[in-house]
Amino acid sequence: MSIQKSYNLTQIKVFELLKTRKFGLTGKEVTARQKKYGQNSLPEGHRASRLILLLNQFKSSLVYILLGAAGISLLLESFVDMYVILSAVIVNVIVGYVQESRAMKAMEKLRRIVQFQALVVRNGEEKNINVKDLVPGDIVVLEPGYKIPADIRFFDTVNLRINEARLTGESHPVTKTTKPLTGDLVLADRTNMGFMGTVVVGGSGRGVVCQTGTETELGQIAQMIKDTKEEKTPLQERLSSLSKLLGGMILLICLFIFAFGYFAGHGFLEMFTTSVAIAVAAIPEGLAVAVTVILAIGMQRILKHKALVRKLVAAETLGSTTVICTDKTGTLTEGEMKVVRVITNNQDFETHEDKFRTHLKETGASFIKALEIGVLCNDAHIENEYSDIKDWVIFGNPTEKALILAGSQVGLNRSNLEKVTPRIDTVPFTSERKFMMTLHHDKKDNKVIYLKGAPEKVLEMSDSIDVDGKIEKLTPAKLEKLKKRYELLSNKGLRIIALAYRSRAIDFTKMIESPGLYEQFVFVGFMGIKDPLRKETKETIDLCKKSGIKIVMITGDHKLTAQAIANELGLPAKAENVLEGAEMSKMNNTQLQERVKKISVYARVTPKDKLRIVDAWQAIGEVVAMTGDGVNDAPALRAADIGVAVGSGTDIAKETASLIILDDNFKTIVEAVRQGRVVFDNIRKVVLYLLSDSFSEVIMISVSLLLGFPLPLLAAQILWINLVTDGFPDIALTLEPPEKAVMEEPPIRRDEPIVNNEMKILIGVISLVTGLVTLGLFYFFYKATDDLDLARTIAFVSVGIDSLLYVFSCRSLRTSIFKKNPFSNIYLII
Ligand code: ATP
Repeated sequence: MSIQKSYNLTQIKVFELLKTRKFGLTGKEVTARQKKYGQNSLPEGHRASRLILLLNQFKSSLVYILLGAAGISLLLESFVDMYVILSAVIVNVIVGYVQESRAMKAMEKLRRIVQFQALVVRNGEEKNINVKDLVPGDIVVLEPGYKIPADIRFFDTVNLRINEARLTGESHPVTKTTKPLTGDLVLADRTNMGFMGTVVVGGSGRGVVCQTGTETELGQIAQMIKDTKEEKTPLQERLSSLSKLLGGMILLICLFIFAFGYFAGHGFLEMFTTSVAIAVAAIPEGLAVAVTVILAIGMQRILKHKALVRKLVAAETLGSTTVICTDKTGTLTEGEMKVVRVITNNQDFETHEDKFRTHLKETGASFIKALEIGVLCNDAHIENEYSDIKDWVIFGNPTEKALILAGSQVGLNRSNLEKVTPRIDTVPFTSERKFMMTLHHDKKDNKVIYLKGAPEKVLEMSDSIDVDGKIEKLTPAKLEKLKKRYELLSNKGLRIIALAYRSRAIDFTKMIESPGLYEQFVFVGFMGIKDPLRKETKETIDLCKKSGIKIVMITGDHKLTAQAIANELGLPAKAENVLEGAEMSKMNNTQLQERVKKISVYARVTPKDKLRIVDAWQAIGEVVAMTGDGVNDAPALRAADIGVAVGSGTDIAKETASLIILDDNFKTIVEAVRQGRVVFDNIRKVVLYLLSDSFSEVIMISVSLLLGFPLPLLAAQILWINLVTDGFPDIALTLEPPEKAVMEEPPIRRDEPIVNNEMKILIGVISLVTGLVTLGLFYFFYKATDDLDLARTIAFVSVGIDSLLYVFSCRSLRTSIFKKNPFSNIYLII
């Protein structure tokens, strides 16, 4: 049933061929079509198979060296050495394989979590569904910031603009229409069609799904689905070059050991296998993989706290975050807004739950008018309008949800109101505009505009005031009084929405051409909306203070509202700490950089201002996390060191961000930062362990050769120790649980070396002490008993055991081994 060239067809024909209608498919039809067409998804890119992953483990210089040594042992008929060397190869390969496939699996699982939603009309009701469940014939509603979920033919567009760069390479948005087009057209010219994967950047529209899944244009372009390879993170780079450098050094030392021992009279095979064994034991081959694993485990732990790291590098940068710039609404607050105050010219209602009803008899016409405008000039939609109000599922902007609910308390319902005053056109709310307008036919078939928005905007557009149905002039004195009233409410932390209307209206297109006509509105009233703070926000902000992270609140709300909320949160909120968007736009970048440190609250800003805030902080050397949800937030999210999209945000914000907080909660960002710090901590622990463990054998053998002792360890013993002490404890250390103290320290500097001076000293001292003490033990027993095998056994056991004990002290670089619960990392015990 999916149809070709629907751009040539009329809307009616398209509906007919797809056997659908504007109010959507029925449940039965959807089920039947889902069976027939399958899921609306693209095939996943190729992932490395298990076999390839396993074979890749053999591609390492270490394995080549070992295999060479095994070959030579075979030639020289030294079978025990050969077996031990081969087991070393096998164990190395298995450990590498297990580690890498764990990391890979973890990351794949994470990728699958982001599920995109589509807003559809089915059975006459709008609802959000998983994009995968879309079928041909579905009616899709489009809003800015969302990706088009399938190939669709538009039948209704209002200034709908779509970025099709992903398909056509053209980065300029295309304005879409609904009329049929003639001829055989290339993608870019099919202006009445929308294609899967392209992004709505403005306006709104509705379309009918013509193709899904692999049938779509995107599905047919193979290159779109090829796997994107994750680039190495700076830490991974740094550590793989560190292990290469160390590897080279160790190889040189081993060459020296071999030559020196051979010329000092030791046998060729003995010296050869010994130096190979030392090389294998000392080269920290596990380092690079351990880092990947720690990052992947970090990502999994972050996910447990409801945040999704989209790029491995973010797991690492998180720990260095010094500034978190966060939206207020929904992130610091619950985003569950409620109208608690309605003020008109001569009435002031403080409301609780359904108190409206009880006061209804006393309310004037302006009061009802205000609520009516709130309901009509509103884009939120109720999924189950005919259910009980308390069960309503409302989608859309939280402010508008609150207005719908307020209206419902006095029996105002949009569907009913629109039967009398149907909507003709809309100027949607944007953070830049700060108001929304809808054009309606009124009862007498005149046109009327309803307006709601930020109070200063609406008052600026109004020249009169509605006094219970009578229209009076808005004198400067009255204006001043109204201003005082909304400021008083803002001071209480309420979000204020002002409502107005204009009768004898003209079409919006004409209005845009003659800006003077933006005035002449009749002001009706204010609504005060409460958005309670999340319970845990204050506590989390206190934690940030302790851990040297600065918090910056960014809001489109009024300065006074923002200040009141900042005060409640314990953020600096004096006049010098607050900057308004208008004031900011007068500052140049240098001026902003000079002030940025002091400012903890940005009020009445637009998403565009966020980019400047990120830039200013970065210019003074800070590592910035920035939250966002809309299309216009994308540039700031991209520019920030950690772009944080909220789970309820648009597709485009999620695609740009490196971290998605699934529950929208500020606390989750801070939790992710904590885990980022733990990642760095654990990488350090593994490095410390692997490096100090590596050098003790090198020291022991070199010194024994220099002093003319017999070799204190056999090659097979060295390899055995390496098997037991390198691979498994190292895996266990990657799983080390977080230490509480990580959030009591300042952020990790981005250029902080992994091996700092303290660690260098530790590595040196530990290698020397263990190397020399074991050599002393060996020598003592050898001299005392004259039994070389016994002395070697003693050396073997002590080197092995000492690493296994030492690994416990690597569990913390802060507290003593005796203060830690030895059982808190059970893997290490095993
Ligand atoms: P935050 O940054 O805290 O999330 P915000 O970005 O949601 O705040 P905006 O949405 O830009 O802030 O809102 C700015 C102002 O615009 C609000 O204070 C309110 O007065 C007004 N406003 C908010 N939502 C709407 C809406 N849907 N229709 C009309 N006006 C609105």
